[in-house]
Amino acid sequence: MAASRYYDIEPVEVAADTYVVFGAQENFNDANHGAIANTGFIVTDEGVVVIDTGPSRLYGQALREAIGRITEQPVVQVYISHAHPDHFLGNNAFDDVPIAALPGTIDAVRAVGADLAGNLYNLVGAAMRGTSAVVPDQTVEAGTTATFGDHRLQLLAASGHTAADLMIMDTTTGVLFAGDIAFHDRAPTTPNADIDAWRAVLAQTREREFAVLVPGHGPSTPDDAPLSQTGDYLAWLVDRFTQDANDGMSAAEVMFQPLPERWARLAVQPGEYRRSVSHLYPAIEQSALPERTE
Ligand SMILES: [Zn+2]
Repeated sequence: MAASRYYDIEPVEVAADTYVVFGAQENFNDANHGAIANTGFIVTDEGVVVIDTGPSRLYGQALREAIGRITEQPVVQVYISHAHPDHFLGNNAFDDVPIAALPGTIDAVRAVGADLAGNLYNLVGAAMRGTSAVVPDQTVEAGTTATFGDHRLQLLAASGHTAADLMIMDTTTGVLFAGDIAFHDRAPTTPNADIDAWRAVLAQTREREFAVLVPGHGPSTPDDAPLSQTGDYLAWLVDRFTQDANDGMSAAEVMFQPLPERWARLAVQPGEYRRSVSHLYPAIEQSALPERTE
C-alpha cells in the first residue's frame, strides 16, 4: 500500500489495550520520512483513542491501517499533544474523527501549521505529499477527564516544551502519555521552550503514580527516567549557559564547546544542543550583561 512504502508501523503493546509506535531517535531525514516521534493508541470497547498522528498524511494512514490489523474497533477520538510537526501532521488521515487539543495548540497550528508542513516537506520530501495542517476541531479543557469504554483518561494541561503541552494519564492502566514534556535518551528540543515552566512540570509529574511512562521521543519505561533525564539536561543547559554568559562567551564559542559524556551520548547530539544555544543563549546572555552605571 502507498502508505507503507514509506512507513514501517509496528505498534508495541506497552500495557493492556495500549500501543506505542516508536519513532526513530533521529533528526528529520528522507530515510525516516519524518517519523521521529512516538505515537500511541488505546483500544477500548467504545472505539480507539489515538494520541498524536505523526508527521504526514501517509504516516497517519499507515497508523490507521496498523490499528485496523489489531482491532475492528473504529478510531473515535484523536488527541494532539502539542503543535510540533512530528506530532500532528498526520491529522489528514483522521479528519473524519474528532481531533482534540489544548487551546494553545489549536492557536499554534492555526498560526504556523502551514509553515511547519512546508518546512517538513523540504526536509523529508515525497512522503509529505497531500499533507496539510489540519487544525484540531475540539478543545481540551484543562483538568477534565474523558471515558472510553472502561478507560478513564485524565487530560493534563501543561506547558514548557511549548506554550501548550497535553499529557494523558490513563487511570485504568496507569499509562502516562507525557508527550514532549519527556524525552528519553534523546536531546530535548527547545525552539518554543519556557525552561522554568518545563522544569516545574517535570518536577510535578515525577510526583505522580504511574505504571508506564511514554515519552514523546525514546523508549517507554516503568519508572520516571525520562522525566529525570529531561529535567537534569535542562538544568545543566541553563547552568552552562548562565556560566558561559557570565564568562562573556559568544554564542559561537558556546555552541562549539564539547559536551560532557552524559549528554554527548544522547541521540541527535550535538546538533540539538547547538540549536538550543541559538534558541536560549541570547536571552541568557542579555540578562548577564553588567548594568552600566555611567
Ligand atoms: Zn517531538
